[in-house]
Amino acid sequence: MNSFTPVDLDLTFPEEGICAQDFIEQRINESSMLDSEDAFFVGDLGDVLQKHLRWVRAMPRITPFYAVKCSDSRDVVMTLAALGTGFDCASKTEIQLVQSLGVDPSRIIYANPCKQISHMKYASAHGVQMMTFDSEGELMKVARCYESPKLVLRIAVNDAGSMFAMSNKFGAKLERCPLLLEQARELGLDVIGVSFHVGSGCTDPEAYSQAISDARRVFDMGAELGYNMTLLDIGGGFPGSDDSKLKFEEFTAVINPALDKHFPAHSGVRVIAEPGRYYVSSAYTLAVNIIAKKVEIEEKMACDDEGDGANKRTLMYYVNDGIHGSFLAILFGTSYLPSLYKKLKPDERLYHCKIWGQTCDGTDCIVEQCILPDLQVGEWLLFHNMGAYTVTVSSTFNGFQKPEVHYIISRRAWQWIQQISAQGLPVSMKEACPSRTPPCCVRESSLELLAKPCL
Ligand SMILES: *Cc1c(COP(=O)(O)O)cnc(C)c1O
Repeated sequence: MNSFTPVDLDLTFPEEGICAQDFIEQRINESSMLDSEDAFFVGDLGDVLQKHLRWVRAMPRITPFYAVKCSDSRDVVMTLAALGTGFDCASKTEIQLVQSLGVDPSRIIYANPCKQISHMKYASAHGVQMMTFDSEGELMKVARCYESPKLVLRIAVNDAGSMFAMSNKFGAKLERCPLLLEQARELGLDVIGVSFHVGSGCTDPEAYSQAISDARRVFDMGAELGYNMTLLDIGGGFPGSDDSKLKFEEFTAVINPALDKHFPAHSGVRVIAEPGRYYVSSAYTLAVNIIAKKVEIEEKMACDDEGDGANKRTLMYYVNDGIHGSFLAILFGTSYLPSLYKKLKPDERLYHCKIWGQTCDGTDCIVEQCILPDLQVGEWLLFHNMGAYTVTVSSTFNGFQKPEVHYIISRRAWQWIQQISAQGLPVSMKEACPSRTPPCCVRESSLELLAKPCL
């Protein structure tokens, strides 16, 4: 287990009773005093702890190996290292990061089926043994330059129900598996198990049960060739927040029985997973500043809601982040809705609004349509559930810098992590719900806003 120390972590402990939302409000107030309107993230590590405990309760048999690419912050990796998870790394730099925080190589899976040789040599020299593959070519590379690898065969699965498909690019089709296993045996390589990924942002739990059943077939193929496989890796794809179409537990309700059927506990097969989005999405909130504003009037276009034939007014807000920054996932079909950081006044008028990013790219639009009050330049909007694939994928296109991330954790959550790090997770904790940063006090959900009539 790793000790969890604030050394070289830039971490704030808000005062007792201050939740993430209050903290954001404080920062916003400070920002206006300092004349600093840069967008910023707040990452609540207590939320990461919550997610871990929820994982352990829902799927006690499955060890999570956090997918570092999702958010490669030292604070998050350190938190998860202290909680005892493993890590899914895809490159030399990710391996370096995880190992620099004292994680043992046995807790790393090099889960990139197509690896650069120099990165492979690095992983090998640093004791990382578990890794995925899905082709003959990769087996040849491994045989040449890897010291005692433990190979995991990645299979292609049905990922039609996911936001981000992967099986066009990665994974061996079932028909090819016997040949790959034979080839590995001829090269004297040890294949210890099977992995898959149902695609990120999965919306169909059945994809897991089908994939688990397919993995069973590959275990049986391996057995025929004399392999005694002992590892099943069910990948990532789990939802990152309860705003998703399906809740996490709706997935685990399908996964657990599928495992019991195909890989019962007495089979001796160790089951791991590679959650990314699940662990970090809800921990981060992004605050963006309105840097410019326009009123667009569409003449003689009656807004049905108004019913008076008036011209349709759209407020266009320009904010200081965008699709080249934290909102890149828009290009892949993700949509976002803003929240206000202050409570709406009871009689506050609401308007059709559009939210643009700050770059000179005409397609840099964050929200095509939403309902918001009349806000002024210098005011702020919040976006919740912004932890996954935001900081790690953003660019500085047009010279706009990435928002800073401020990490916070409540004293209570901090103590829990220390305790788990030192003693492991006691049985009582697996059931009990620990105290968390209090739930947000003034979060006005964007959906509620949308439900309000157009004024
Ligand atoms: C990206 C990735 C993950 C994480 O996926 P999430 O959908 O974020 O859980 C896990 N495993 C592999 C191999 C990946 O490429």
